Amino acid sequence: MKKLAVFFPGVGYTISRPLLYYSRRLCMQHGYEIKDVSYHGFEPIGKGDYDMMFKAYEKAFDEACKQLEDVDWGKYREVLFVSKSVGTDVAACVDKKYDIGAKHIMFTPTKLTFSHDAFPQKATVFGGTGDDWAPVDYIREICEKKGYKLHEIKGGNHSLEIKDVREDIKNLKHIMEHVEECVESAKHKEKNNSGKHPCPCCGCLTYPVVPAKEAGFICPVCFWENDLYIKNEEEPSDANKGLTLKEAKRNYLDWGASDLKLKKYVRKPLPDEIP
Ligand SMILES: [Zn+2]
Repeated sequence: MKKLAVFFPGVGYTISRPLLYYSRRLCMQHGYEIKDVSYHGFEPIGKGDYDMMFKAYEKAFDEACKQLEDVDWGKYREVLFVSKSVGTDVAACVDKKYDIGAKHIMFTPTKLTFSHDAFPQKATVFGGTGDDWAPVDYIREICEKKGYKLHEIKGGNHSLEIKDVREDIKNLKHIMEHVEECVESAKHKEKNNSGKHPCPCCGCLTYPVVPAKEAGFICPVCFWENDLYIKNEEEPSDANKGLTLKEAKRNYLDWGASDLKLKKYVRKPLPDEIP
């Protein structure tokens, strides 16, 4: 059973902009199949013009439904919806329409979002305290009521950016760490059909026995050497030349190997090894 991540952009915020671009890459690295929804031909929307926003939503919802009508939702063990602005509204309504029960990552839901009585079961929401399009007070209220996890970016505008590039990059890093938590928290298989268990670093099902019993095993997908002597993810691992498991996981996401120097030895996971 596979995992699917569907991306719902905003009107102006496309999938090539940072929040969606990096979320999408994280999903790919965690073995999700990706589907991008796209909409075309919007008229410009003035700030706070809810009539125009509603029209944009209707158009986007119609287009999204057309693009997703052939998806066999039942064949995926995990469905993740990642959405931005007007797209958050569309994602919630698509979820309701097809009764999918997707997990949602929502960037800057607007005042219109949730106005259709479509509430995801599970959502992680990001909002900016300086966002005029999506007032954070409103988002906070909804998140409290529905038990959604909310992350607020201090001073963040509708792109969750402020005026300082360094701060923006720092914030983006924090945001992506939270996104990764959502992506990772997907139910992992305990073992695959060949009886292999997940690697502590890349999560691929490569271990012949549970990692806690296998000293010295080197994962062929990420080249992390199993270390039974480290107590936590932040303790340097002697078996991995002083690298911590936390650093190795990050490296795997960035480079596809637990250590960039080992990249030449790794291989892609086999279909049966994909978590
Ligand atoms: Zn591995």
